[in-house]
Order: sequence, then C-alpha cells, then structure tokens
Amino acid sequence: MSKVLGMEGKLALVTGGTRGIGRGITEALLAAGMRVAVVGTDSERSVKVAAELGPVEQVRGYGCDVSDTEAVTSLVALVGEDLGDIDCLVNNAGITRDGIYIRLKSEDWDRVMAVNLTGTHNFCKAVTRGMMKRRAGRIVNITSVVGQTGNAGQVNYAASKAGQIGLTKSLARELGARNVTVNAVAPGFIQTDMTADLPEDVRSAMLEGIPLGRLGDPADVAAVVLFLLSDASAYVTGQVIGVNGGMAMIG
Ligand code: NDP
Repeated sequence: MSKVLGMEGKLALVTGGTRGIGRGITEALLAAGMRVAVVGTDSERSVKVAAELGPVEQVRGYGCDVSDTEAVTSLVALVGEDLGDIDCLVNNAGITRDGIYIRLKSEDWDRVMAVNLTGTHNFCKAVTRGMMKRRAGRIVNITSVVGQTGNAGQVNYAASKAGQIGLTKSLARELGARNVTVNAVAPGFIQTDMTADLPEDVRSAMLEGIPLGRLGDPADVAAVVLFLLSDASAYVTGQVIGVNGGMAMIG
C-alpha cells in the first residue's frame, strides 16, 4: 500500500510529534514506511518518544522551540545531516492560552501567535528552498476548526489558526509551479492532553453538536495527513480539510 502511495523511505518532519495528534501522525507515517524526525520542546523527551516508536534509522527525536527562528534553522540543518532531505513537513506543534478577551494578557496573545503561527512560518521557511530546488515537497499545517469559525474565549488561538490558513493558501500559490503542495488540516474536537481538562458539561455540550456523535482520535487526523503527504493527493493544494465529525460544514 505505501509503495502505491509513494511514501516508502521518504522523510517527514513532524513538529509536536511527541504527544497527541502529532504522535498519532508520526505513528501513521511510520506504518506507511516513511522515516520521521519528531520534534518536541525537549530533546531528551523527544529522543525517548522516538525510541518507543521505532528504530533510530526510522524515527529520531529532536528538541526545539518552534517559535525560535534561529533554533529552527539549525535544527533543520541538523536533521538534513542526520537523515537527508526533508520531503514532507507537518507543522503540528501548538498551544492554547484561553480566556475571555477583556482579560486576555498580551503575553498570552504573543506566546500563542509565536508558537502556532510564527512556528509554522519558521519551519516552512527553513524547508522551502530545498523543496523548490528538488521540485518536490509536501507541507501540511495543522490548523483548527476554530480558525474557520471563531470561538469565544479563544481569540488569540483562533487568530493564530486563521493565520495558518492564510499562510497555507498563499504559500500554495507561490510553490505550486515547483511541484510543492501546501495544505491545512482543521481538526475539530480531538481527545488529547490539550482537550483533557475541559469540564464535563462543556464536553457533553460539544458532543451534541457533532453529527458523528463522538470526539475524534489522533488517528482520525493522521489518516488525512497521510493522504495529503501521499501521491494520492498530487493535485490537491491550498486546501483546508476539516476533520471534525461534521461539527462544522464549510465550503
Ligand atoms: P498536545 O497539547 O497534546 O501536544 C502539543 C504538542 O506540541 C506536543 O508534542 C508539544 O511538545 C508540542 N509543542 C508545544 N509547544 C511547542 C514549542 N514551542 N516547540 C515545539 N513543540 C511544541 O496538542 P494536540 O495534539 O491536541 O494538538 C496538536 C495540534 O492540533 C495543535 O496545533 C492544535 O492547535 C491542533 N488542534 C488540536 C485540537 C484538539 O482538539 N486537540 C483541535 C484542533 C486543532 P512537548 O511534548 O515537548 O511539550
């Protein structure tokens, strides 16, 4: 199957691959025969997670704050030395610092934008030149349904996620002629550490708005990322694909 999809042996870098959706994506890519560089905030923890997921020739862990432009540039160079050209980039690392707007602190605005939006930009910038030269590459940015619909209490997060969508579409227009595709995946409500602390009443209210009647799993998101990194999606670029159980129907 992975041979048919053209993924065998290709190298993907997944930010935030240590937990939650990113870990699910990493597992799916490894199962499809890809090699993966897993990036988390802490290199020791990332190396440990990578060792749990597979042999070092197939999956390696790295530590880096995605919002730190210089650190990202050095990390991408290091991954290149260790593992070769990065064929696919998945910008998945993300954080929330929620609260109603009138109480939103500027440091919470800054940090969420820095990690979610600048982090995405930093990795796109670091891999784009190589992909353009090779006339091949895949970039998938993990945005959110709230970047499409907005959400009370998440002004900073929704703005950062909407920003990723603008980045995705603009970059897709610039890179299409070089055979590099850039797409976004917009998950709905997925069971991870990020959503673990939601109060029970909020959780059940959200469930009522999901036609498929369940929260999503990281594997649900990973399946769509896999498609977008494969040969099966060769003519798909600049798109935002929702993985939300039907909670929002956009388009
Ligand atoms: P988790 O909180 O479970 O995991 C976040 C991941 O991002 C971790 O691997 C973490 O690394 C990494 N990370 C956070 N900050 C940084 C940083 N500064 N530098 C490097 N890595 C960082 O999140 P989810 O799996 O739930 O979310 C993943 C993505 O999906 C995010 O972009 C989120 O916005 C998006 N999303 C999630 C939804 C959900 O319902 N869960 C819904 C819609 C979108 P470490 O382990 O080192 O801390």
